[in-house]
Formats: sequence, structure tokens, C-alpha cells
Amino acid sequence: MSKYWNDKVRELEPYVPGEQPKDKKYIKLNTNENPYPPSKKVIEAMKNAVNDDLKLYPDPTCSDFIDELASYYNLDKDQIFIGNGSDEVLAFSFMAFFSKDRKILFPDISYSFYIVYAQLLNLDYKMIKLDENFDVPLEEFKRPNGGVIIPNPNAPTGKYIYIEELKKLVEANKDSVVIIDEAYVDFGGESMIKFIKDYDNLLVIQTLSKSRSLAGLRVGFALGNKDLIEGLNRIKNSINSYTIDRLALIGSVEAIRDEEHFQETTKKIISTRKKTIKDLEGLGFTVLESKSNFVFASHKEISGKILYEKLKDNGVLVRHFNKERINNFLRITIGTDEEMAVLIKKLKLILR
Ligand SMILES: *Cc1c(COP(=O)(O)O)cnc(C)c1O
Repeated sequence: MSKYWNDKVRELEPYVPGEQPKDKKYIKLNTNENPYPPSKKVIEAMKNAVNDDLKLYPDPTCSDFIDELASYYNLDKDQIFIGNGSDEVLAFSFMAFFSKDRKILFPDISYSFYIVYAQLLNLDYKMIKLDENFDVPLEEFKRPNGGVIIPNPNAPTGKYIYIEELKKLVEANKDSVVIIDEAYVDFGGESMIKFIKDYDNLLVIQTLSKSRSLAGLRVGFALGNKDLIEGLNRIKNSINSYTIDRLALIGSVEAIRDEEHFQETTKKIISTRKKTIKDLEGLGFTVLESKSNFVFASHKEISGKILYEKLKDNGVLVRHFNKERINNFLRITIGTDEEMAVLIKKLKLILR
């Protein structure tokens, strides 16, 4: 607390990112990073871009990357917005589309940044309680609102909603924007992108952080009707026109081009996920169905908090949330087969 802080800063409750510890080498299964390196073509292109051109500002319209995404997703260029990580795209979306007089809706167990943005921007919100199976009760979102945001698959549960169901939600919400946060959709889910041409209130947000192994590059994007995209550009150009640097722009293009690398790494993660779920169940864990690059699991005998601590002592870092209803769960990122074998071995020791 400082006397120089204004009232807003005093009342903030900022998001707490997962640990990035420096004290020793952990098997890091706590922040949903991809265990595989990015495409070699990304690295190569970025190395070549470390040159005197860095004295110049980057392209504020991100046109090369937008061209690439437009042809990849079969969209028009004016249906695409690029941001510094999808976190920034989400923040800009809250600023552009949600208003103070009507409540915005999101699940009570969900990405915890939503509540932070709402508070930062003085937006009123209502959190909709997940049902007893940790599914999102979509009927509860069909009420008057100032905007809807749902991750699909959800985090930290990993559970997936069929897009036909979400489509009905978009249709029932013609007076507000429905944002689907698809940070994890590439790990077995289906994207809402194909409905963008049908609905002017649908915004789909994705990121290169998870399925493209580029969490360190900070690139995310929004796809939607051109008027929504223009709204996001109005916000961006009122804050910082150059959110994506030269190197990130060049790397992002290559990341989308290298389809083979993308297919190979996402397939490996899906197959490791399947094996991990089986192994965890074999140890007495209950594991929620997952279509993401993590699983959400609880054990009937040992609490989530103790398991988290013991795993950390054993050099394996997972995520534990000290929050009602989920404090007995661990969120475990899917690593390589070798990393997951160590996790299972350590859990066996701890449970013995
Ligand atoms: C990881 C994550 C993001 C943020 O991703 P960045 O692009 O790295 O900012 C957004 N939404 C959800 C649900 C996430 O889990």
C-alpha cells in the first residue's frame, strides 16, 4: 500500500499467474505450457529477423499475420484482430463490448482473469454456478445480460461444450456479445469459427500460447464480425498501436504455416492425455473428462493441497486452487510421456 496509489489501485485484486520458480529444476505441469518446442521454422525466421530493422516500429496492422490467418481459417481480413497474448485480446474485448449497466455472465469456476477484468473496469457481473458434474449450465446464460464469456474447453476443468449447444446460446443472445475463449480448442475440440459469418454477436478468441508452443511470444487473436473487430481496433489504437513486436509477427506467420508440426504435437498431447487419465484412475483418482492439454483430478484419500505440496517437494509442479468446490483438485498440464511417467511414479510413492 502506498499513499501514491489511487482508489482504483487500492481496491484491485490482480490475477495471480502460476509459479515460474527459479530455485530448482521442476517438471513443470502447472501453467499449461506446451512440452514440445515451437516449430523450427518459427525459430529460424525469428533469428533471421534479429537485424537492423529492429530500429523501425513493427507493422501496427499486423497485415502479414492477418493474411496468414485469413487464409488458414477462410475468413476476411477485417474479421481478425491480433493482440499481445489472448489475455490482452480479452481485456480489450471487455473494454469494447461490455457495459456498466447490465451484468456480464461467466461460469463461477473458470478462467480467473475474467473477474479481474470486470473489477478493473467497474463492470457488474454474475457468475453462473457449474452443475454437479462441473458442466456449464447453458440454460442459465439465456437471460438478459451485458455480455457472455465462456472458455471452451473450460479451464481449469478441461470440460468441453458441443458447439451446437453454444450456437443456440449465441442465437438466444442477440442483444449482447458472446465471447468463446478457445485457448484449448485445438486439443480435441471443435471451433466456433465456422459460425462467425452467421452471427454478428459472436467473438472467438484463440492463442498461440498453448497449441502452438509459443507462450513466450505473447500472441493471441480474436475472430468475429468486422464491426466487432473494428471496435477492438478502436480500443487498441487508444492504448498502444504497436502491441506485437517485429519478431513476434514474423514467428507467428511461420507458426500457422507449419501445419505438420502443429498436427504432430497436438496429436502427441492428446494421446499422452489419454494414457495419463488411465494411469491416474488406476491410482484412485477421479479425473474429469478433458479436451484440453491438462486434466483436473482429485483423490479420495489425500487432499489436493497436500498432494500439490508433496509433488512439489518431489520436483513436480502442478496447479492447486485454494477455492471452494475445487480445493481438492489438482490441475495437471499434459507434458511429454516421460514427464508424465515421472509424475505417476512420484504419485505412487506419495500415495503408498
Ligand atoms: C492460457 C489462457 C489464456 C491466455 O493465453 P495467452 O494468450 O497466453 O494470454 C486465455 N484464456 C484461457 C482460458 C487460458 O487458459
